[in-house]
Amino acid sequence: RKPTDINALLAECLQLSYHGFRAKEKNCHVSLETALDDSIGDVEMVAQDIRRVLLNLLNNAFYAVCQKQLNGHAAYTPAVSVRTQYEKDAIRISVWDNGTGVSSAILNKIFQPFFTTKPTGVGTGLGLSLSYDIITKGHGGELFVQSKEGEYAEFVVRLPVGQAGF
Ligand code: ADP
Ligand code: MG
Repeated sequence: RKPTDINALLAECLQLSYHGFRAKEKNCHVSLETALDDSIGDVEMVAQDIRRVLLNLLNNAFYAVCQKQLNGHAAYTPAVSVRTQYEKDAIRISVWDNGTGVSSAILNKIFQPFFTTKPTGVGTGLGLSLSYDIITKGHGGELFVQSKEGEYAEFVVRLPVGQAGF
């Protein structure tokens, strides 16, 4: 673990993920919003692991909005929003999208290894289960989802800081 600027890491992952999707999905124009709390100092973490988590959450978000657009929704503007916030003894990182959302029927399955709704070759179903382990076991944090099917999905990471954390 080493002190890492989470805002810079998130911004870097957002650019990487966004440009990856722009190259693949030429017709999917995603509106990006970022709200990064600059009162957050460096946080102790295994940066390459947190990077994998953020990239997976972002790739999932871009996939979900582009998928919703392909499904043909009138007057739909795909949007992805990332936020960081300094809380009492944790850093809260949110990755929000207005894509397909997660149906309540599978909400409790998506963190299981190999669970995917994506076609073979697109998804492995390992991203969220790996992310869950990295955040909970690796960093003593939390990873959870809030979603309304067809409307939005928000994945929230909470990393403990100060006495509670690292
Ligand atoms: P994969 O991306 O390979 O399918 P993940 O573990 O990253 O594996 O995600 C598992 C499943 O969770 C996805 O197949 C999808 O059904 C659901 N999911 C994850 N993120 C989102 C999201 N932002 N919006 C809608 N569904 C999502
Ligand atoms: Mg994934």
